[in-house]
Amino acid sequence: MSGTPIFAVDLGATWLRSAVVLAGDIKTDTLQRSPTPSEPAECAEHLDAAWRSAGRPGRIAIAAAPELQPDSTVRRWPNRPEWLGQPLLSAEMKRLRPTLIDDATAASLSAAAKLCPGGRGTVVCLSVGTGIGGGAVVEGRPLLGRTGAAMDAGHIPVPAARGASCRCGRRGCLQAVASGRSLAMLEASAGRHSPAYRTGRRRAIRALAEAYAILHALFDADAYAVAGGLGLSGLQTDLNQTLAHRGRPINVVPHPDGSGAALVGAALAAGLTERATKNLLL
Ligand SMILES: [Zn+2]
Repeated sequence: MSGTPIFAVDLGATWLRSAVVLAGDIKTDTLQRSPTPSEPAECAEHLDAAWRSAGRPGRIAIAAAPELQPDSTVRRWPNRPEWLGQPLLSAEMKRLRPTLIDDATAASLSAAAKLCPGGRGTVVCLSVGTGIGGGAVVEGRPLLGRTGAAMDAGHIPVPAARGASCRCGRRGCLQAVASGRSLAMLEASAGRHSPAYRTGRRRAIRALAEAYAILHALFDADAYAVAGGLGLSGLQTDLNQTLAHRGRPINVVPHPDGSGAALVGAALAAGLTERATKNLLL
């Protein structure tokens, strides 16, 4: 694990976090969290100020919900199409050639480091927040796919989501019924204590259980974790009961790094060897 201080960033649809990570630990006195700015220029200014206040570390790692170009401009972000082509880092930060990695893949790296001795096992992690992302570490290596888009788990079709419209334009995706956004919409329309909300939450748990069962059949992993704001809200108890009820021998654990999962994972990605990181650039 790298003993070099790394300025790590977690850019999500709702929250923007940054901190210095040293040897896998977040330096809490450098941790900053704020709502993700509405404008990309504001995001770049915010990160530049946080980096400077952290002492301008020479290594930078970005875990991002949007797909980024190697120059840190946004290549794809369905949640914020107006950010397309916009730079997210200041010129000075870009000169340090930051490591860029998908946020859910970053969370799977940090989960593997904590849940498997030496990080050498196979770990699957779903990040259940505003949207749903997935990441897998297979025998110690992050699964990236041809374009870095592997494990787009939010768009796995699952039976419990049948018929539900997804923002991707298809129907029946996991994310359509089990994301923080989908439950927040239900809460806003029906109220948190309504039968409709309780039914929607049960549907979300069923959909997540189906997704983990599919991933278990594919990966036969050493460990399964859940991260993200909704994922860390205690739903794994109901999730594990549903999995047990369906005869699936899976125990889903809350991510050991909690809300710092992507920050620690980004720093781990920056610390990997050149050979292992060459495809992390999205
Ligand atoms: Zn979808």
